[in-house]
Amino acid sequence: MHDPSDFRSDTVTRPTPAMRRAMAEAVVGDDVLGDDPTAIRLEEAFARLVGKEAALFVPSGSMGNLAAIAVHARPGEAVLMEEWGHSVNFEAGGPSRFAGVMIRTLSSDRGILDPDLVRRWIFAGSVHTPRTALLVVENTHNFHGGRVTPLSRMRELRQATAEKGVALHIDGARLWNACAATGASPAEFAACADSVTACLSKGLSAPVGSVLAGTRAFVDAARRVRKTLGGGMRQAGILAAAGLVALDTMRDRLVEDHARMRRVAEGLAALPNWECDPARVESNILFVRWKGGGPAADAAARLKARGVLCFDTAADTIRLLTHADIDDQDVDRLLAEAKDL
Ligand SMILES: *Cc1c(COP(=O)(O)O)cnc(C)c1O
Repeated sequence: MHDPSDFRSDTVTRPTPAMRRAMAEAVVGDDVLGDDPTAIRLEEAFARLVGKEAALFVPSGSMGNLAAIAVHARPGEAVLMEEWGHSVNFEAGGPSRFAGVMIRTLSSDRGILDPDLVRRWIFAGSVHTPRTALLVVENTHNFHGGRVTPLSRMRELRQATAEKGVALHIDGARLWNACAATGASPAEFAACADSVTACLSKGLSAPVGSVLAGTRAFVDAARRVRKTLGGGMRQAGILAAAGLVALDTMRDRLVEDHARMRRVAEGLAALPNWECDPARVESNILFVRWKGGGPAADAAARLKARGVLCFDTAADTIRLLTHADIDDQDVDRLLAEAKDL
């Protein structure tokens, strides 16, 4: 058990001892000058994993998404995204502020987009309409409780955009969880897209960083955007070294997080004051309704006083995540305290 038991996010995961060692021993150079061998190794490893020509190490998933949007779309062009999408809700307005794009949000079936609705909102561009340049697909989908868009639907979305010359970017902050949940490979998902971002600092426990992959030309352009955003890092290999350990050693264990989240959901669903549907748990995120009276924020504060951390995301809703720093005893503690509440 950990103290506190931190269910707020998988971003709270600490680097593993192997990561700390790799960071201490990393061979480094100046990555802005293009000669940090460890950053290059990480970029090549990710590109290989997702079957793309090249990749770029970025400080955060937000910067990876922003760089992708800025390369795929010109200012004034439109980007389609699910309405609870991360880039439109949780990246501080970055796409409009720094890439100058219009974001058109689409409703969905709990995070899964309808290819025909996507087609409906693709504009060729005219004297009136902004050209639609890009579709962003978030997989797994954070605010739809870690829902996976399966490969079959990814391929249909790819078809819908490709036939109109629109690019597709996967916000794969939790692509690893989508792979663990479905058994599909990162390359199979990425084959449905022109570009893909993935976080190293969430479920994979690296301290900092995301990776963005695409064609060589795309990555060259994204590298320049990264520089304009102040994201060029010098001895980046110290961070990249942890990312390499993350890719090598932390992906296979994500199924444990998913199993624990199912146990959390089943446990909470059995309690009178909590409401959720365990059948909907696909990966490591759960939104649960608090019915015990008073706002969810109070319930979260009371749990915190008992050593269990979580976020309230609406007046009656709490979000929980499982990750490498949550074990079976943490789940036991959560369920015991939730029951006592
Ligand atoms: C966490 C997250 C990101 C990026 O987050 P950073 O904190 O900027 O690394 C992007 N998309 C989704 C869906 C996320 O959950």
